[in-house]
Amino acid sequence: MNTIDKLPPLSSVIAKHDLKAQKSLGQNFLLDLNLTAKIARQAGKLTECDVLEIGPGPGGLTRGLLAEGARKVTVIEKDSRCIGALKEIREVYPNRLKIIEGDALKIDLTAHLTAPTRVVANLPYNVGTELLVRWLTPRQWPPYWDSLTLMFQREVAERIVAKPGARAYGRLAILAQWRCNPRIAMYLPPDAFTPVPKVSSALVHLDALEHPRFEAEQKTLEKIVATAFNQRRKMLRSSLKDCCFDIKSTLEKSGIQSTKRAEEISLEQFCTLAREIKGQE
Ligand code: SAM
Repeated sequence: MNTIDKLPPLSSVIAKHDLKAQKSLGQNFLLDLNLTAKIARQAGKLTECDVLEIGPGPGGLTRGLLAEGARKVTVIEKDSRCIGALKEIREVYPNRLKIIEGDALKIDLTAHLTAPTRVVANLPYNVGTELLVRWLTPRQWPPYWDSLTLMFQREVAERIVAKPGARAYGRLAILAQWRCNPRIAMYLPPDAFTPVPKVSSALVHLDALEHPRFEAEQKTLEKIVATAFNQRRKMLRSSLKDCCFDIKSTLEKSGIQSTKRAEEISLEQFCTLAREIKGQE
């Protein structure tokens, strides 16, 4: 039973607006409103925040966010078929829901938000990682958002929180952990979604840190991390040989054995190496 608001169940909304899920838009909907309210609660206290939601679809998570008291929710949806259903939610929550029809990868999201802002989304898997990388690599830090609460395929979620030595450890772990506190907030089985996807999912919550955990210049860090993990089985003295004049001595000066591989190097060591390489320019 729907206990969070007086709107019709999502199955009726989908039938009324003929929202047959489209694979090309990554549409796997959450229809259990108690679950969407629980997901909204993982984002923390929302009453004094603007929330940005990408891909509201028929509005299950949107309703969870509004029922949990979000000051204002701005949604960006690419599928024009969903807009009618979202307008019906707006009528029940006057002045608290802003609906934007468009592609989240093309719209300047900041223009529609008032700080503090939290991002909450059951992302379309095909654009999820790209949006996350954009949120983690803005020109200025701290970013416009205070936290991100995002659904990913379980495998991607595990890459975000992975530690050195783990198979999932790589570029995404470094980018996320350098300037955020990421944690897996919830695991969801495939049958939490309609239609049921092939893979399990996990909700990741990332709090933005005021300052990066370790000092480093963003572009240099991004470059060495991407280069090192592109050839993750190679020793660093080989994978990073084109990153500076003498990689062997640069690694030694950074306190890193040149025979180590990327997956053995901690975030702090990557930051030390980035400072050493930047210092040589
Ligand atoms: N939030 C809804 C829920 O939890 O039931 C729907 C989630 S579904 C996984 C992803 C949603 O993102 C779909 O409604 C899809 O149309 C929308 N979408 C896909 N690509 C998009 C893009 N580039 N910009 C905005 N929305 C997008």
